[in-house]
Amino acid sequence: MSAAARKEPAAMETEVREKIHLEILKRTGAYHANDHILLPSGQHTSEYIEKTLVTTEPSFTEGLGAVIAKHFAQWPVDMVLSTGPGALILSHCVARAHPSRPVVVYGAKGLSGGKRRVSLPVEFQRLIRPGAKILLVEDLVSTGSTLTLLSNLVEQFGALVVGIGCLWRRTSVDLDNRPVFSLVSRDFPTYDPDKCPFCKRGVPA
Ligand SMILES: [Zn+2]
Repeated sequence: MSAAARKEPAAMETEVREKIHLEILKRTGAYHANDHILLPSGQHTSEYIEKTLVTTEPSFTEGLGAVIAKHFAQWPVDMVLSTGPGALILSHCVARAHPSRPVVVYGAKGLSGGKRRVSLPVEFQRLIRPGAKILLVEDLVSTGSTLTLLSNLVEQFGALVVGIGCLWRRTSVDLDNRPVFSLVSRDFPTYDPDKCPFCKRGVPA
């Protein structure tokens, strides 16, 4: 019996689903595997995702958005909140596929006094009724700090965060125990330059 066949059906389903989603991201040109990449941190990796290419294929984006919407379909949602304009196309696709027919709004990220801040245009703030149920959508979650800040902000306006839907999250990311659904949950392998297997094999970066 193979290792895959011994796994629990739910775990296997997640694994298969992730593989399909990775393949979709690969086809958009957003996800690179088996490459030799130098990261700005000075470390090396074999995998990389180009954020800007994630939603370039409308039918793929609609399909992925629908998977996120289906996961949250059992909960009523009044509003889908995109972390910023970057995740807005995906947010639209999630909202379009959710049975509650939620509205879509987006936040803005910025710095103030050297600290990360998020804000919500006042027109969007007015749409948040007390007790409004909000689903946050992000494309790639690496630290989760934007999502945490945005969740805290809308909760101050009296809204409830139903959950967070995203395409990709690093497994280590902590989102204050808020329910998160990601199509892919995966860390990139990173290596110190002197331990990098690609450098050792002489693969050009
Ligand atoms: Zn290397």
